[in-house]
Amino acid sequence: MLYIVSTPIGNLKDISLRAIEVLKSADLIACEDTRHSRLLLEHYGIGAPTTSYFQHNKLTKGEYLLRLLKEGKTIALISDAGTPGILDPGYNIINLAIKNGVGITLIPGPVAFINALVISGKPAHKFFFEGFLPRGPLARKNRLRQIAKLGCTLVFYESCHRVLKTLRDIGEVFGEREIVCCRELTKKFEEAKRGSANEILESFKERKPLGEFVVVI
Ligand code: SAM
Repeated sequence: MLYIVSTPIGNLKDISLRAIEVLKSADLIACEDTRHSRLLLEHYGIGAPTTSYFQHNKLTKGEYLLRLLKEGKTIALISDAGTPGILDPGYNIINLAIKNGVGITLIPGPVAFINALVISGKPAHKFFFEGFLPRGPLARKNRLRQIAKLGCTLVFYESCHRVLKTLRDIGEVFGEREIVCCRELTKKFEEAKRGSANEILESFKERKPLGEFVVVI
């Protein structure tokens, strides 16, 4: 059985009792980054062996994990933060397991865009999750223009390195529309800035953006 296990996106307490139970009893924990996950695993006294499963070894390691699963081993998959499969290599091993008739289940928990969507106060009954916008300025603006036509709440992931450029482009495409720029969700410096993209850009002149971001339009 492949257990896909959601882990915290910041606050170490945001993990379910069942997640801890599954991680403790797994034959192997496949981590996006074993060093990163060590903090969480040690915090909860989880001693199961770990192995890395990440973007650049997902093909070879995927086959290895599949062999173990077919032998009847229990593997738990965790990512650096949140729910595996949401913009991390989880997607590949999940599909490998499905194609090979291996049982899979999700131990649910945090997903950064769900936190942001809910606290944004924007309509959450119909929304579009874009993941990361394209990096190139032209492609990014074109994509924003495209999804502006969807007529529902839009949600993006963004890094602190690109958030200012993205806000600038959102300002050009969406004008004075109120957006919500969420930062460091569930962490000590969690905040949700509300205003037009240009107002939020102004506020970052006082303090440069740090941490991880989710933007809601
Ligand atoms: N699997 C994760 C999930 O369930 O949300 C997403 C992984 S994706 C590679 C990483 C991105 O998620 C970050 O660049 C950021 O946009 C967003 N993110 C993750 N943790 C966050 C947090 N605590 N606050 C704000 N955004 C976060």
